[in-house]
Amino acid sequence: MKRVLIGGLVHETHTFLAGGTGLESFAEMIWVRGAGLLDRCQGDVSPMGGALEVAQRQSWKVYPSVYGAAMPSGAVTDEVLESWWAAFAEDLDQALQEGLDGILLILHGAMAFASFPDGEGELLRRIRARLGDRPLPIAADLDLHANFSLQMARCANIFTGYRQNPHTDARQAGERAAQLLDQVMKGKGLPQVVALKPLVLYSPKGTSTTAEPMLSLERMARRLEADHPELLEVCVLPGFAYADVPCAGVSFCATTTGDPHRAESLLAPLAQLALEQANAGNPLDPPIAEVMPQVLALAQGPIGLIEPSDNIGGGTPGDGTGILQALIQYGVKKSAVVINDPQAAAACHTASVGERLQLCIGGKVDHLHGPTLELPVELLRRTDGKFSLENEKSHLASLVGRQVDMGLSALVRHQGIHILLTTRKTPPMDLGQLRSQGLVPEDLYLIGIKAAISHKAAYDPILRASFYVDTPGLGSSDLSRFPYRHLPRPMAPLDP
Ligand SMILES: [Zn+2]
Repeated sequence: MKRVLIGGLVHETHTFLAGGTGLESFAEMIWVRGAGLLDRCQGDVSPMGGALEVAQRQSWKVYPSVYGAAMPSGAVTDEVLESWWAAFAEDLDQALQEGLDGILLILHGAMAFASFPDGEGELLRRIRARLGDRPLPIAADLDLHANFSLQMARCANIFTGYRQNPHTDARQAGERAAQLLDQVMKGKGLPQVVALKPLVLYSPKGTSTTAEPMLSLERMARRLEADHPELLEVCVLPGFAYADVPCAGVSFCATTTGDPHRAESLLAPLAQLALEQANAGNPLDPPIAEVMPQVLALAQGPIGLIEPSDNIGGGTPGDGTGILQALIQYGVKKSAVVINDPQAAAACHTASVGERLQLCIGGKVDHLHGPTLELPVELLRRTDGKFSLENEKSHLASLVGRQVDMGLSALVRHQGIHILLTTRKTPPMDLGQLRSQGLVPEDLYLIGIKAAISHKAAYDPILRASFYVDTPGLGSSDLSRFPYRHLPRPMAPLDP
């Protein structure tokens, strides 16, 4: 019976956002340890749920340690790192005394701490140092938006990554990490990890796996695995561009039982293609004023207005008013937007349904996501903001499980425009978000969607048309707007 210590820390850090991400943000989503980890994740669709299922199937003795996850947001505080590490190191020491065969971590791969920009690299470095000269395998799974570092490659033996964006296969990546760890624990010799980083950034919108360049890169990676059995997994990691850290950008990594130099040379054509496709990985969005006449020429909805600049799944505040302003300006009735605004939602909860209120909506977290709009509205509905996912395999499910809590929420209407106000920002990855609050998405003419790619699994099946628009915000698809200081240069597409 193999004995495995399991834990993890999941965060996608947008380093340009003001404000840090502290323990309270993890507590709001996931922060569990020991039996609490098993209670929370066993049987769910998260990568941790997948790993635990393999653990059960392979009859591992599992030492559940500490596992945390928070919504994408600003730099993670050092307190989170030290709290996680204190718990994990204690559990590791205990497990080493009892006997340990391997370590399995569920990670995202684009976490930056205030003092350690290569967040996962720092976790893995500490674990490897604690193990000393014990040759124990460490396996981890990653989101494809991981900013992979060479330190991560040095300190671990197995990496698996999501292969779909939107991430409908997160659970499988956790399963594969556990399967490969199981094989390695039962075989001989530790695999090594090699990585290539071709010095190119892709914006989130450029990382869709149903479009180039990801289609070709994924295909090449799977072919490499098929042709070279010593490559246990090849990860295509287009990275998370809103991280001003030295390891940001597109990466490729391979877990190999063969010659690492050979594995590196096998990855070279992928790195070459990724660089050549810098433009395809950075599609820009047209200004909203240019798009609205095309939208309004269509008589039938639902039409999606996609706003990467306030892409909640990428960490932005979700209170941007760019689309709402346009809907008001063009008088678009039967439309809806979701704005995360705890103050406005709370104000609605002191009023009665049917009442008319004057509300200040959105644009409050910073001055970069459009102005706060003061609007007369009619209060249609007040709720606790809880809903069950319609698609239990969605990316949202892999993050939070089946139940989502948007906090106190309210539905208001201004001149035929529905505005759903929430207390906790919630990425638009499931139609239950609207339906649970009294909106029928199929009956709307236009829906404002704060996302780049992650909405597609939920919304594409019901939208007659969708248009990307450029609005103010820190999720802009135009990376030249960001004041990078810590990237290696030259970096495409920023430098000639
Ligand atoms: Zn991702």
